[in-house]
Amino acid sequence: MNQTAGRHGTAHRNRQEMVQASRKLVALRLNCGTSGNIGVRLAQSFLVTPSGVPAEELSADAMVEVDFSGTIFGAGKPSSEWRFHRDILLARPEIGAIVHTHSLYATALACLHREIPSFHYMVAVAGGDTIRCTPYAIFGSQELSDLVVQALENRKACLLGNHGMIAIGLDLTDALALAVEVESLCEQYWSSLQLGAPKLLSPSQMLAVLDKFKGYGRRGKD
Ligand code: 13P
Ligand code: ZN
Repeated sequence: MNQTAGRHGTAHRNRQEMVQASRKLVALRLNCGTSGNIGVRLAQSFLVTPSGVPAEELSADAMVEVDFSGTIFGAGKPSSEWRFHRDILLARPEIGAIVHTHSLYATALACLHREIPSFHYMVAVAGGDTIRCTPYAIFGSQELSDLVVQALENRKACLLGNHGMIAIGLDLTDALALAVEVESLCEQYWSSLQLGAPKLLSPSQMLAVLDKFKGYGRRGKD
């Protein structure tokens, strides 16, 4: 696609949506400063937010295109986490977008290396009966990316040890909604821990929820 077509085509719309989503993450207090980043799949490559730019200073043109071999297009510097964006998109062909945050409650639990157990039925929105937490690995590393891909197996969200969280989805709207939901679950889990040990749902109760989710909501029949 040439430059002119790109500016008015899907890629430009994606870039604008990434700016809006980055600002929304700050407005919702899921990110602040230069914490967190966003990745969106294109046909043969992906877009990622630039490294170290606060959401209020972002523009559509600042999004950086990277291909799956790690070639960076243009002069911009991609997010330091471009490796996990690339590796998630490679490992999960159904996924179109990735949201990474340092939101308060997800990060607090990630600092304790606590996975989120089946304390609430909504844990199933992330695809299983737990939301896993990776061990610590330094930001931007291939080691962190490998741990993330593993923690996301059969899941759409995970916590990053001593760091934050990742939510993934079919598109950016989907991934953003899941990030909001995961942060809310982390706050609920943290709150119930203040009063004792939450009573966990059993594997069969969680399987029933996962099954019911297939028909839930605007896309479902019931
Ligand atoms: P970037 O600004 O490089 O995306 O880094 C932010 C971050 O959250 C690193 O994990
Ligand atoms: Zn981060």
